Amino acid sequence: MKKLDLKSFDIKELEDIMIRIDEKSFRAKQLFKWIHGKLINELDETTVFSSQLKDKLDNRYYIGNLKLLKKFESKLDDTIKYLFLLEDNNIIESVRMKYKHGNSLCLSTQVGCKMGCDFCASTKEGLVRNLSSSEILDQVYKIKKDINEEINNIVLMGSGEPLDNYDNVIKFIKLINSSDGQNLGIRNITLSTCGLVPEIYKLAEEDLQMTLSISLHSSSNEERKRIMPIANKYSIEEIIDATKYYIEKTNRRVTFEYTLINNINDKKEDAYKLSKLLKGMLCHVNIIPLNPIKGSELIKSNYAKEFKDLLVQKGINVTIRREMGSDINAACGQLKSDYMMKL
Ligand code: SAH
Repeated sequence: MKKLDLKSFDIKELEDIMIRIDEKSFRAKQLFKWIHGKLINELDETTVFSSQLKDKLDNRYYIGNLKLLKKFESKLDDTIKYLFLLEDNNIIESVRMKYKHGNSLCLSTQVGCKMGCDFCASTKEGLVRNLSSSEILDQVYKIKKDINEEINNIVLMGSGEPLDNYDNVIKFIKLINSSDGQNLGIRNITLSTCGLVPEIYKLAEEDLQMTLSISLHSSSNEERKRIMPIANKYSIEEIIDATKYYIEKTNRRVTFEYTLINNINDKKEDAYKLSKLLKGMLCHVNIIPLNPIKGSELIKSNYAKEFKDLLVQKGINVTIRREMGSDINAACGQLKSDYMMKL
């Protein structure tokens, strides 16, 4: 029988485990604090459990650990890209970005991605598998230990579509927020999605205060279909309705990401259409300069500033995302962890 990863369990689930192995349920909280607070890699690092208890746990459970394979440090800024090896030899990437307001981590939620966006490297080989909540958490834990600094923000913008791995992502958010673990505020977590409409409605019902970021990239359905296959499934109007519902439920300002691509979505009319679409919404637009990737003919637009100004004139809040870690292929859309290690 395959052993189960203790790092994926919340305190209630650990209590059930303790009871099943004939131990007192208060041991669950202790174990949770060791795993998610003290960030141990194995049970032997704990000091409060009897060897019998550890043996009983060892029979059926283990603590999952990512192996750090490689680290790339940017010479342009303080960005660090990490390559982690998973138990099944898949590889994922995570990025640490350092801002004035602290450390922000960009995490992967899947190995590969099935969404097929034309401009994104992570999806070129399709989806390999979902990450477990333990594997998403451990990206944070291993980086925190490596840099020995607090983690202030998390963005789910690495490889994968977070809402296509819904349950594990929600579990991850609850675990990282736990006051017996890292106690990271949910408001400091941004979930970025290409726009899976039913899941946006579901997320609105979770009563979690995270920032929702919608990868819109276009204000016309036809144009969006050219670069994002998911546009064939959900229209922009459906995405806007779902986002309005999310805002109504959570009262949180949402972000619309807009990767600016030469001759595709960077025309004046595009900016005007976008401003009409978003008028009156509690939102802000984040313009991302395209990072051109191999195998795609899309070119970066030179009109980021003009595009921004047009939107601002129309009363929309806009920022242009700073490009970070581009010398180590750590910028948006450059994470490509689709290969298996040949051991
Ligand atoms: N699947 C999620 C999260 C991952 S991508 C999503 O679609 O939102 C995070 C952001 O980077 C998205 O807005 C995505 O569209 C954008 N992105 C992907 N590839 C890019 C590239 N080559 N250049 C600029 N932005 C890119």
